[in-house]
Amino acid sequence: MRTPVIAGNWKLFKKSAEALQLVEGLIPLVKGKSGVEIVVAPVFTVLDRVAKAISGTNIKLSAQDCYWEEEGAFTGEVSSGMLLDAGCSHVIIGHSERRQYFGETDATVNKKIKAALAAGLVAIFCIGETLEERESGRTFDVLGTQIKGGLSGIDSLQNVIVAYEPVWAIGTGKTASDAQAQEAHAFIRGEIAALYGADAAGKMRILYGGSVKPENVAGLISQPDIDGALVGGASLKADSFAALVNAA
Ligand code: PEP
Repeated sequence: MRTPVIAGNWKLFKKSAEALQLVEGLIPLVKGKSGVEIVVAPVFTVLDRVAKAISGTNIKLSAQDCYWEEEGAFTGEVSSGMLLDAGCSHVIIGHSERRQYFGETDATVNKKIKAALAAGLVAIFCIGETLEERESGRTFDVLGTQIKGGLSGIDSLQNVIVAYEPVWAIGTGKTASDAQAQEAHAFIRGEIAALYGADAAGKMRILYGGSVKPENVAGLISQPDIDGALVGGASLKADSFAALVNAA
């Protein structure tokens, strides 16, 4: 039995007052909700304050990225140990916006996942194809390469969650159909099984991301290989995010 995860990626939104307002609005709406892991991922600068606000609740804290070195002369970076120190239990790694705008590659994603796991964080490892890749029939090749590259040299997937986020569905309002998403998730689980065995694949949580909202979440998460959602836009309002949590 895989516990579903609903994770909110706040991206580059919400200064401290807005972040606290959001999380304080969310806490009562999801209070007592069990059987689902609830995660929010604010910007670095408000992690500490959000950590204090959610202390003792059923909401967990994630960062949106981390660097692979623990410390040193790496101006502007934040390490996984520092995220743990700020109260994080999770970190999103390899989001398509990081790959697209900040030059992340499978190799840097791999180093970041290793650093996150070494620090004791849960890595939310994002993969997904572009529209051009899908339309040229390369979706499975792309996903397979991202999985092998991102997880290279990693022995245990115990603290890894995969997020399948077709790039063409992120922030666009276009959602993969339930069948398209399920097909990709089944492929991902099959790849994990080939690399790590059926037991690891059976335990792996694979989240869908890409314009998930209260209106489409039920169909997606009822698919056998979809174990929750990584959510951008709909995580920025307490009521819509809570509706996703309550649907899970
Ligand atoms: C995301 O940021 O990971 C995401 C899926 O965004 P949205 O839900 O807005 O498409």
